[in-house]
Amino acid sequence: MSQTTSDLLQFDTKGIYCRQADVYIDPWRSVDKAIITHGHSDHARSGSKSYICSKQSVPILRHRLGSQINVRGVKYGETFSVNGVTFSLHPAGHIIGSAQVRVEYKGEIWVASGDYKTQDDGISTAFTPVKCHGFITESTFGLPIYNWKPLADTIQDINEWWSQCKDDNRPAIITAYSLGKAQSLLHNIDRSIGPIYGHGAINKMNTVLIEAGLFDVQTLDVDLEKKDYGGCLIVTPGSGLNSKWADNFKSASTASASGWMALRGARRRRSVDRGFVLSDHADWKGLNSAIKATGASKVIVTHGYQELFSKWLNTQGYEALTQKTQYEGEVLEAVN
Ligand SMILES: [Zn+2]
Ligand SMILES: [Zn+2]
Repeated sequence: MSQTTSDLLQFDTKGIYCRQADVYIDPWRSVDKAIITHGHSDHARSGSKSYICSKQSVPILRHRLGSQINVRGVKYGETFSVNGVTFSLHPAGHIIGSAQVRVEYKGEIWVASGDYKTQDDGISTAFTPVKCHGFITESTFGLPIYNWKPLADTIQDINEWWSQCKDDNRPAIITAYSLGKAQSLLHNIDRSIGPIYGHGAINKMNTVLIEAGLFDVQTLDVDLEKKDYGGCLIVTPGSGLNSKWADNFKSASTASASGWMALRGARRRRSVDRGFVLSDHADWKGLNSAIKATGASKVIVTHGYQELFSKWLNTQGYEALTQKTQYEGEVLEAVN
């Protein structure tokens, strides 16, 4: 079997390493120089001496890793060079500020995509394919069973569920992780249906994004004295739904918004009344079209269904292989 090797980017015990530049992409241990694709905690970890990320990700990293971190924001498409290696960040469409990292040295170009989605959610700058020789892809939903409906259709389903709850004077609780899913949901749903409350973690993240001018919907703080949340929408991370906090919303209808809801039995396993297939990751078609658009011949497949997806890519003429990482995909995002 042919080996997909990259002289430019290697996977070592700390992350994705560019030896020539002595820079790591999304390291999972402390390093001197880290380029960060986006603010989710499996990709943006604390402890590194310096960080580079998109301008939009700066307030997110400061919020999550501490205001004292040494971080520099660059614009999408802006090039910077380290030891002769040229880097630039390009929209990944995953969450606000998410970026693919383009790395070029002596004519060889690799792109580390972090997490991405090809559907435009209206608030995360839309995914842009970047031409390269080698592409590092996630594979969170890298099976043909993951096939997203148009975003507007899923949002319509959520609007109808919430409206029904309102007619029945029941609270509607939906789970969405605090960074990413919560904002794409809040941006797209019909906010005229009723008041929207948020779990503290979500309201805090919204505040950070609003103050940075990256978002414009705030959710109300839950008032534990208030007894009747009938007709209200309550947005919470998954952990909130399983905590005592959720006891405040008597007779609520519960829902989960996640790519995993495409799996048979997922709704039942999460013990929610409704499951909506809504993801910040590319589905099967999205992964395939994104990879094709790069023009890459070499693909390194990371977190998700990496074995199956890389086998598939090999049948499609790519030189693909898998790499183990400590990125966790929608699993981690869902519990955060
Ligand atoms: Zn992510
Ligand atoms: Zn990821």
